[in-house]
Amino acid sequence: MPLVHIGDGRTPWEVFEQKQYLGNSRIAPCSYALKILPCRRWLTDNTDPTTTVLYIGLDPSRRDRRRAPAIERGWRPWRVEFPLLDEPGLSKAAMLAEARALGLTPPQAYELGFSHANCGQLCVRAGQKHWLNTLTHFPDRFADYAEREQKFRTRTGKDVAILKETRGGVTYPLTLTELRRRHEQAQRGTP
Ligand code: SF4
Repeated sequence: MPLVHIGDGRTPWEVFEQKQYLGNSRIAPCSYALKILPCRRWLTDNTDPTTTVLYIGLDPSRRDRRRAPAIERGWRPWRVEFPLLDEPGLSKAAMLAEARALGLTPPQAYELGFSHANCGQLCVRAGQKHWLNTLTHFPDRFADYAEREQKFRTRTGKDVAILKETRGGVTYPLTLTELRRRHEQAQRGTP
């Protein structure tokens, strides 16, 4: 099949600003607005659900397996298949090796220790470990997001953040600026 690129041209931050909602690990409006909605529109305009199968690349990990039923329901009336789930022993390393053997160049992100290459290592759904890796390898990108996050907080007056942390059983927003401050403090070895 020919490869089709679908997109509406906005960035995640444009979606956050328009919706006045900062995407985070729990709710990411960018994912729906920039990926699911445009895909669904394209499928509606170009395919017949009775003869079309959607192939989705969930991997055989337990986490991805748990996601499959909801994804299947979400794409109805199209039929969805997850070919990689039929290969239970398939590891990420084996998939990357197979891709290379087929002449594909996997994104650099995998070599740098990221588990995916979404949105330039700036996915708002990612956790602290991922963002610290972004800080290490792409400090300018991290700084840009930290600044945008601070501006969003100031403009809306809301105590919101991309990341979260749990202290004493209570969950609090954790800003990228604070994450970087703690990281730098730990590197200096000061309490
Ligand atoms: S990869 Fe992450 S930041 Fe990018 S659109 Fe999806 S949820 Fe949003």
